[in-house]
Amino acid sequence: MFESLQERLGSILNGLTGRGALSEADVSAALREVRRALLEADVALEVVRSFTDKVREKAVGAAVLKSIKPGQMVVKIVHDELVAMLGEEGVAIDLNAPAPVVIMMVGLQGSGKTTTTAKIARRLGERQGKKVLMASLDTRRPAAQEQLRQLGEQVKVATLPIIAGQSPVDIAGRAVQAAKLGGHDVVILDTAGRTHIDEPLMVEMADIRKVSAPHEILLVADSLTGQDAVNLARSFDERVGITGLVLTRMDGDGRGGAALSMRAVTGKPIKLIGTGEKMDALEEFHPKRIADRILGMGDIVSLVEKAAETIDAEQAAAMAKKMQSGKFDLNDLAQQLQQMSKMGGMGGLMGMMPGMGKMKDQLAAAGLDDRMFKRQLAIISSMTRAERANPDLLKHSRKKRIAAGSGTDAAEINKLLKMHRGMADMMKAMGGKGKGGGMMRGLM
Ligand code: GDP
Repeated sequence: MFESLQERLGSILNGLTGRGALSEADVSAALREVRRALLEADVALEVVRSFTDKVREKAVGAAVLKSIKPGQMVVKIVHDELVAMLGEEGVAIDLNAPAPVVIMMVGLQGSGKTTTTAKIARRLGERQGKKVLMASLDTRRPAAQEQLRQLGEQVKVATLPIIAGQSPVDIAGRAVQAAKLGGHDVVILDTAGRTHIDEPLMVEMADIRKVSAPHEILLVADSLTGQDAVNLARSFDERVGITGLVLTRMDGDGRGGAALSMRAVTGKPIKLIGTGEKMDALEEFHPKRIADRILGMGDIVSLVEKAAETIDAEQAAAMAKKMQSGKFDLNDLAQQLQQMSKMGGMGGLMGMMPGMGKMKDQLAAAGLDDRMFKRQLAIISSMTRAERANPDLLKHSRKKRIAAGSGTDAAEINKLLKMHRGMADMMKAMGGKGKGGGMMRGLM
């Protein structure tokens, strides 16, 4: 899976990594190629569009780090956007509901629904000790119910006894009833598919949903599905309302676009992936791993991550020097605030510095918490350069102007100035004692 996409993206981005400087035109040219590669990999057009827009926005504005090439920066941005597009990490099947928890499996015929039903049942039984009941609601294909029964035997999970002639809705009702009586924790309903989406299928799914009140509705989709993936996911989500996706045949050599499109279009998490015909070929979904596979440039990504850390350290060192000299103006404070929010806010920052408890209290007393970073940065950026360098200039009328410009008030500006004064004094004192850098030294 993903080989050809990986090859294409690789050569495009390698082209970029050879260059010294990256202009907007370079970014655009590269993105045209990225766009073509994604389309060829069967990623849906609307998804490709929003993807390349986001990458462009970030790539053109990105501060290029000193030690890396601009093209490498683009690789990192493409990688991060792929991860974002694929969604969050490992969202497990949610069983947090009164027993029996109903899981409804939906999807087209041949997508791997029945196989996945048995795989999930096995997993819930073996890993979570759940007592599971499976029921096939596929009355259209005579062999379907028998197929699930046999898989049940194989994975040692109970299946609902087959009663010939019952409708899917009746079977669903009976399955839930049987699970209640039998003390099952989970009941998985394997619904019938069609070769394509049609109205009767959607009506049937809605009816089954009504009688069984499923807690999870998982759309099982073949990851080799091409451009249809978007319609498929959207239709099922709009008409039946899905809670997650399971992508099958991730072991195949398809172009992989479906994985990218379906999550983007529905916003629903990819919960599991099928990686083979065997009953244990079911895996959790890891966006970062998939993005690494698509891009095949993990080394560049980690290089950029390291460089970003280094640049932070370089900035920190410069700041430390400044503090030691006793100069700490509002420009410096703005830089500090930016760095703090980047490093996990106040909690994260203080956690890195031994003996900073007292300072934390002082800052808290001055009203500095994570939510205030943004407002404080807004205040500082509403000041003139002279005001930032020399806060003593800030008298009443200037404060009024800044309050209006930043959407805050004089009280908040005073709070900021008080905090700045406190920090500057403390840093001077720490510098004077020869401890060096103080606050920023702790970060290195
Ligand atoms: P259903 O019609 O949706 O119930 O599909 P089935 O569960 O009957 O699966 C159709 C075929 O796909 C079977 O031969 C399965 O063994 C196969 N299959 C299902 N999931 C996977 C998978 O993740 N990888 C591979 N290679 N084959 C799969």
